[in-house]
Amino acid sequence: MHCPFCNAPDTKVVDSRLATEGVQVRRRRECLQCGERFTTYESAELSLPRVIKSDGNRERFNEEKIRSGLIKALEKRPVKSEAIDKVVNRIMKQAMTEGVRELPSSTIGEWLMNELSSLDQVAYVRFASVYRSFQDVNAFREEIERLMVTTTAKS
Ligand SMILES: [Zn+2]
Repeated sequence: MHCPFCNAPDTKVVDSRLATEGVQVRRRRECLQCGERFTTYESAELSLPRVIKSDGNRERFNEEKIRSGLIKALEKRPVKSEAIDKVVNRIMKQAMTEGVRELPSSTIGEWLMNELSSLDQVAYVRFASVYRSFQDVNAFREEIERLMVTTTAKS
């Protein structure tokens, strides 16, 4: 990187160590031209993307919204809250590792449906029926049939 003092293009790393409990790398650099020393910090950029809603509006990624959607779908189902936490964490990790600034809410919806389909089939159908707002009874029946085929294939 460029020297902040003389703007020379080459600087040499003279020391490198972990900082902030390993979350950052602290580097001492020396300018090859003017000899000044300075410090840089390097850390991974992991931030949650903003969510593009179906109406085109943007909103911040809302962990609680995801959790409450799951809890609603899993109401009175034999699923532990730890399992819900794990799903929320996986969704957030997936959102962070996408490396995009904005993510359509439909993508998050699909991830949630995938998670629910392996977690609890009843909750999955509940969520899917609201989320996909099945156009008619046939579409809903097709989804149930698709599910039953998947379940049979798994066992
Ligand atoms: Zn310099």
